[in-house]
Amino acid sequence: MNFNVEEIRKDFPILNKKIYNKPLVYLDNGATTQKPAVVIDRVHQFYSQFNSSIHRGVHYLSEQATEEYEKARKTVQRFINAKHDYEIIFTSGTTGSINGLAFSFGEKYVHKGDEIIITEMEHHANIVPWQMLCERKEAQLKILPFNNKGDLEIEKLNNLISDKTKLISVTYVSNALGTINPVKDIIDLAHKQNIPVLIDGAQAIQHISIDVQELDCDFFVFSGHKMYGPTGIGILYGKENWLENLPPFQGGGDMVDVVTFEKTTFNALPFKFEAGTTNYIGAIGMAEALHYIENTGIHSINKHEEEILGYATHNLEIIGGITMYGTSEKKSSIISFLINGIHQYDAGMVLDKMGIAVRTGTHCAQPVMQHFNIDGTIRVSIGLYNNKSDVDRLCEGIIKVKEMFS
Ligand code: PMP
Repeated sequence: MNFNVEEIRKDFPILNKKIYNKPLVYLDNGATTQKPAVVIDRVHQFYSQFNSSIHRGVHYLSEQATEEYEKARKTVQRFINAKHDYEIIFTSGTTGSINGLAFSFGEKYVHKGDEIIITEMEHHANIVPWQMLCERKEAQLKILPFNNKGDLEIEKLNNLISDKTKLISVTYVSNALGTINPVKDIIDLAHKQNIPVLIDGAQAIQHISIDVQELDCDFFVFSGHKMYGPTGIGILYGKENWLENLPPFQGGGDMVDVVTFEKTTFNALPFKFEAGTTNYIGAIGMAEALHYIENTGIHSINKHEEEILGYATHNLEIIGGITMYGTSEKKSSIISFLINGIHQYDAGMVLDKMGIAVRTGTHCAQPVMQHFNIDGTIRVSIGLYNNKSDVDRLCEGIIKVKEMFS
């Protein structure tokens, strides 16, 4: 398939927008991506023609909505190559997925003195829920460190694992450093000791082809809004065996079989984990985004983004006076840096006035900033519609920032 970034850009209405009278350069895709017209139209079409609560009614609209929702589940199943559609749970996003799992898994399997392993480069969404669980259960959170290039010190993992380790939870791609972690090695090592692994795929799913059966991860989570879909929708994938044995993390409508005041029995998978009226419009919009990615081709997207990443990294480096954070050989779509002597926030404000959207701050990964003893970085994160002209505008902006503050 021919990947033509200029054609792709036409699919995203917001890219025509002017910010302070300058064409928008959107380089904050790690926070959220823009939406193609097909996704916006699908959501609009659904509300205007099919809207009805799913799984409840016998009437036409409810049946239509249910059918589309379950089709969306199958689309997600295909996209990550899950074995069964009922291994796909719709949640509110990565944060919702990890919190739900931490509660459910923790209730059943984590007891006083047990241990959970995460890494030093996790997003707060993959730290705080485990910390809360550890506090509740008097368990211990253990941290696998990374080195100054931003690579995990994987050789230390074996020593961190003990017979008390109940789960390892690790990000596939760091949202603050861009490192692509060797998750397959971690999964294989953990499985040798019968330890399940959760992969936070929030920054991977939109860039890298994912096959959960090949990875053999026990859980995989991601968000719709970071992959060109709507907000408020995300996925918790779990292997059937785990999901069958885990208790629900929310109670309410749809997740039950029989309810009496004495006892409630739960519905089958996946409904056991989808209490209440789910974000079915979000799920349908997300499926449309997945179709968009499939039609564009994840390998073509990956190749294009690698080219832009290389171009941007090189051009930022030759400006000079820039410190990069995260210089692993294996990186995806994220460049974190500081302009020496200039606060990231000041730089971000000036870039904004030039119509350039970048992220400044800690990127919800404060331990990464603590590692480098800094209070934040400028983060450029690339999406499939970014082109070399976006990078050129960014570099011009940074040169201007340097001039202004010199
Ligand atoms: N994990 C990672 C690696 C992320 O980058 C993010 C979003 N920045 C999250 C988790 C949380 O995602 P959400 O806010 O969509 O729940």
